[in-house]
Amino acid sequence: MLLTAKYVLPVATPHIDDGAVLVRGDQIVEIGQAEALKTAHPDEEVRDFGLAALMPGLIDLHTHLEYSAMRGLVDDLPYSQWKLQLMSLEQRFEPQDWEDSALLGAMEVLQSGITMVGDITDSGASARAAARSGLRGFFFREVETMEKARIGEVMSEAAADIESWRELRDDDRLVVGIAPHSTYMCHPELFRAVAEASNDEDLPVSIHIAGSRDEYDFVKYGSSRLAVEFRDKYGGNEIGWLPTGVSPVKYVLQWDLLDVANLLAVHCTQVDDDDIEILAAHDVAVAYCPRCNAKLGMGMAPLGQFLERGIRVGIGTDSPASNNTMDMFDEMRIGLLLQRSVSGHEQFFIARQLVKLATLDAACALRIDDRVGSLEAGKQADIIAVDISHSHQIPTMYPYSTLVHTANQENVLFTMVAGEVLYERETWHTLDTERIAARADEMRVKLRA
Ligand SMILES: [Zn+2]
Repeated sequence: MLLTAKYVLPVATPHIDDGAVLVRGDQIVEIGQAEALKTAHPDEEVRDFGLAALMPGLIDLHTHLEYSAMRGLVDDLPYSQWKLQLMSLEQRFEPQDWEDSALLGAMEVLQSGITMVGDITDSGASARAAARSGLRGFFFREVETMEKARIGEVMSEAAADIESWRELRDDDRLVVGIAPHSTYMCHPELFRAVAEASNDEDLPVSIHIAGSRDEYDFVKYGSSRLAVEFRDKYGGNEIGWLPTGVSPVKYVLQWDLLDVANLLAVHCTQVDDDDIEILAAHDVAVAYCPRCNAKLGMGMAPLGQFLERGIRVGIGTDSPASNNTMDMFDEMRIGLLLQRSVSGHEQFFIARQLVKLATLDAACALRIDDRVGSLEAGKQADIIAVDISHSHQIPTMYPYSTLVHTANQENVLFTMVAGEVLYERETWHTLDTERIAARADEMRVKLRA
């Protein structure tokens, strides 16, 4: 199949005007000028997208597909109160709700040009939704307990799930990892157990860390809402908690979590120079979640400092429960504007850097940039086409700027994963979208009752 459009943005190399990408099986075979490729392959089926950009699929480095039906449920509370309220309302979900909520998420991400997610999941519904829809992803099995005595049991339950989730597909689109919930819901020995399991079984690890002032104060001083209301409601107060006197990053360092080979730290808005140094020294990757962090008042991650120190960074939406949409264009735009707004002329980010963060750099953060993240011959054909022909988008002076400053999820025309077309102009080839929409309304009623 020969895909053609006004612009081809390989990301790793300069963009091509009137370009084309030749796909055979699950791989990209050739990239170049449309006319030259058409002449060289006269019998190839051609799909032309006109005034559009063909680019590598977007990678949502951090989300929770299974929380999609909680879109807009708790919109106007800061992080700790948001978390408390969400945890209380999610008790109303039954197993089927988690499944359908994750399918709603899969439907949204495919329509949004996201071909791969980094997803922390408790139920496994996210992994099953990806398996069914054809989406690529890393699915991190969440583990939590504040009770030291329960760590063995928690880890063996997780091991059983990890084993079964690996069987969900017989190709390599799904990678399963493990995710200790947070500093405030894990006994420190659990971090050590996760690190051991990760090193023994080559499991990638992800953790939400240093994401709010409340978390920072809880770890360092033993105070904050997370120390009081949260533990009153969800347990832990009977176990006790001694303030550690250090930052969240230093705390998990002391418990060996940073020794794992493939660790993705999510948020990192509450980090100082020492913390950044530690993350860099341990080659920890970071998921920058600018919209979620702004919406829940979590602070802003020092993106420029991360990149200066050589830290691998990508962009995450953190799910509709905290962010309302999994729109990576919004994420790139707001992520760019926030940094410019705060940093002024220093560390002045450009549109192309944000597109790279949302594609190739995110692949690098998960250490699969040899397979996805850019349009290159030999890589997996994870490709999207984004319409940039609307009146608010023309003329397109520079395609990267057009994408970051004018595009949105609804401009995506086409989403392909591993050479398989999963979404094209309002048609999803792998999902029963009518049923999912009907279930979304049932879940709304249940959550709002
Ligand atoms: Zn999250």
